[in-house]
Amino acid sequence: MDIKTLIERFEKIERAAVQSERAVQIISWDWRAMTPKAAAPGRAETIGAVSDVNFAILTSGENRKTLDALAQPEHLAQLPPTLAARVRELKKQSDRKAAIPPALFSEFTVLQARSEAAWEQAKRQNDWPSFAPHLQNMFDYTNRFIDLWGYEGSRYNALLGFNEEGMTAEKLDALFTDLRDAIVPLIQAVRRSPVVIDDGFVNQTFPVEQQRVMAHALLDLEGFRGDWGVLAESEHPYTTSFGRQDVRLTTHYYEDMFLPAVFSTLHEGGHGIYEQNIDPALDGTIVGCGLYSGMHESVSRFWENMVGRSLPFWRCNMARFQQWFPRQLGGVTPEQMYAAVNKVGTSLTRIEADELTYNLHIILRYELERDVFEGRVRVRDLPDLWKQKMQDYLGLTPLDDTQGILQDIQWSMAQFGYFPAYALGNLYNAQYTHTMKSQLDFDRLVETGDLGAILQWKRENLYRFGATRSPEQTMLALTGEPLQAKYLIAYLQDKFRALYHIEKEAAQ
Ligand code: ZN
Repeated sequence: MDIKTLIERFEKIERAAVQSERAVQIISWDWRAMTPKAAAPGRAETIGAVSDVNFAILTSGENRKTLDALAQPEHLAQLPPTLAARVRELKKQSDRKAAIPPALFSEFTVLQARSEAAWEQAKRQNDWPSFAPHLQNMFDYTNRFIDLWGYEGSRYNALLGFNEEGMTAEKLDALFTDLRDAIVPLIQAVRRSPVVIDDGFVNQTFPVEQQRVMAHALLDLEGFRGDWGVLAESEHPYTTSFGRQDVRLTTHYYEDMFLPAVFSTLHEGGHGIYEQNIDPALDGTIVGCGLYSGMHESVSRFWENMVGRSLPFWRCNMARFQQWFPRQLGGVTPEQMYAAVNKVGTSLTRIEADELTYNLHIILRYELERDVFEGRVRVRDLPDLWKQKMQDYLGLTPLDDTQGILQDIQWSMAQFGYFPAYALGNLYNAQYTHTMKSQLDFDRLVETGDLGAILQWKRENLYRFGATRSPEQTMLALTGEPLQAKYLIAYLQDKFRALYHIEKEAAQ
């Protein structure tokens, strides 16, 4: 078959794969944000049926023949770089799915949706035993998949490398060791510090109606296009997109605190802005979205932390927060708010953790899931191990499983190998923001609310490429260096030593 025919066939397969995947994601979004509880099991069947269609497109013998032929080195060499990237990515996804027998995959998708529903109920009722068999299923099925996919080194690499091309447990262990060795003593120095941060004003009643107004204003401020997206509510905030002009976000409001909605909205908005600013020429292709989870987390945590947890942000925006919550925040200064949003060490839950301890919440999850897959830990022992590690790393003990192992949605969906992305996101973010700050007057732009120049920098240097570059290529192009822990460590040390008046020596 000539290459022109192969390319025509490829584009047809790619279109069908992308559109059917969007259908699955649209139903999933509706399921989480809109579907009545009673309809959840039925909707799980719907998702299973549409997933089967996507599966068939990616794994049919005819389609795989086309992908195999076009992915031959002599053919790839003739393609423009973007088309070659699309072929490689679709082939990778096809190989991933084709390795799994259809009946097994179908069984799994139904169990996966049930597991997610069971998790939601178990979390509400602090009922680990009712969820444990579902989680066991998710680990068991994933283990069967790992055997079918194959792996080098750690079994965990079969999961990690798919989320984050080029990443391995071995590389991650080195990055996380550097990070942990620097953060644990810094947290201990913070605990010894005489500085006491008063954040009592963040725990009051904040009417949800006002929080909704606030969330939409924060998205506007970030540069999220409201005409190309939607903000809804779900148990666990998340983002999904069906092309750059249809980006769906969710957030979660708590009546007795407003900061979770501030940071989850900035975070999910960050994911959304990335999707909205990908090169229009890539729209509808397999690489026309942010595929690498760590890189996606880096852009969301940029807006959440580098912007939202900075003093210039609160200097710029305190007056607006006081308009939304005049009684609660009337007498609070930007400096007091900056200190409050960076107060260290009290949260048992990851999504409410401060920026410093956050990475240890991730390292804990990474170690537990890696150990289950490597056969060192049993699922039934996870709640106790969770509590033990929280005590060892953070000096905190969860009172119940809702605040412990049941707090996150990811494991219930068999999204294993994903958690490291959050800490990787922090590492990428710190390194390329270091570069950005050498080119832009970042603090002044944030303090004057002039975020357009920052958005423009990120669009030009990062967003527009979608998944045409691997994370490694992105870091080299952006910063001239491979990923290292030293930029995040320096950023955290500078910030928290200043906040807690810690001498350099005391933190070593
Ligand atoms: Zn995220």
